[in-house]
Amino acid sequence: MNKKYSIMCIILFALLCFVGCSNNNKNVMSEKQEKDSKLKVAVSFNPLREFTEYIGKDKVQVEVIVPDGTEPHDFEPKGKDLIVLNNAKVFVYNGLGMESWIDKTLENVDNKDLIVVDASKGCSPIKATEEEKNEQGGYDPHIWLGLSTAIVEGANIKDALVKADPANKQFYEKNYNDFKNKLEVLLKDYKGKFAALNNKSFVTGHAAFAYFCRDFGLKQNSVEGVFGEGEPTPKKMKDLVDYCKSNNVKTIFVEQMVSPKVSETLAKEVNAKVKTIYTIEAKEDNKNYIKSMEENIKGVYESLK
Ligand SMILES: [Zn+2]
Repeated sequence: MNKKYSIMCIILFALLCFVGCSNNNKNVMSEKQEKDSKLKVAVSFNPLREFTEYIGKDKVQVEVIVPDGTEPHDFEPKGKDLIVLNNAKVFVYNGLGMESWIDKTLENVDNKDLIVVDASKGCSPIKATEEEKNEQGGYDPHIWLGLSTAIVEGANIKDALVKADPANKQFYEKNYNDFKNKLEVLLKDYKGKFAALNNKSFVTGHAAFAYFCRDFGLKQNSVEGVFGEGEPTPKKMKDLVDYCKSNNVKTIFVEQMVSPKVSETLAKEVNAKVKTIYTIEAKEDNKNYIKSMEENIKGVYESLK
């Protein structure tokens, strides 16, 4: 009786092991298959990751070329970035000179089926001022900080995802329409609010907000120029101090990525408070694109009220 019982126990135990192991195998397999089945999208830097993940959700696997915490205006790609591009189905970059490395890098990519997306296609670009023009071209690249231009970038990304993965066309279109609707609501709401204000100018660290200003009829003044080129001259600093004093500027916006110390010095000088604004050039405070933009818009609105 005892012996029979032990044998039964052993058989049962072995059976459980077998079921457990094969279940484990199944999990490992399905995770791998799931990863393999996702559409591989490489993007140059953070805002394009935000847009692509919003539109592609769990159907895409996004790799970002410019690592978090790196200033994208000074970035140079490395050998491992070419591997990412060689393995991707879609590559999204911002355009308008944001990625000065783009032409040289694409020449070295060995992936003839890669769908390359210039997300600025169809955006009406703003010319950089004469003193801000450099070898990267004559335009201000910060289109992702304007809601109406972000909608165009989103459309370009959606079209590329549909082209690469037509089976999920409806899914990408639904997510894109949701993205577009959210931005349009925000745009409409704040266009009216900003129009009702007399004060239209704000001061920030990095001149990244020209498209944001165009959306809402505002004007930016900044410590650093469009390309984040370093600390301002003493003359520029003095002009800013005078500007803040004569326009009664009470808030100086600062970006984490661009020397906040200079903005803090300016704020102290003119007795203004310092407030964070997001350029979204890198992932900050773990906030997504829409959340960051809502906070930017509300922050600027409150400062001008
Ligand atoms: Zn910038």
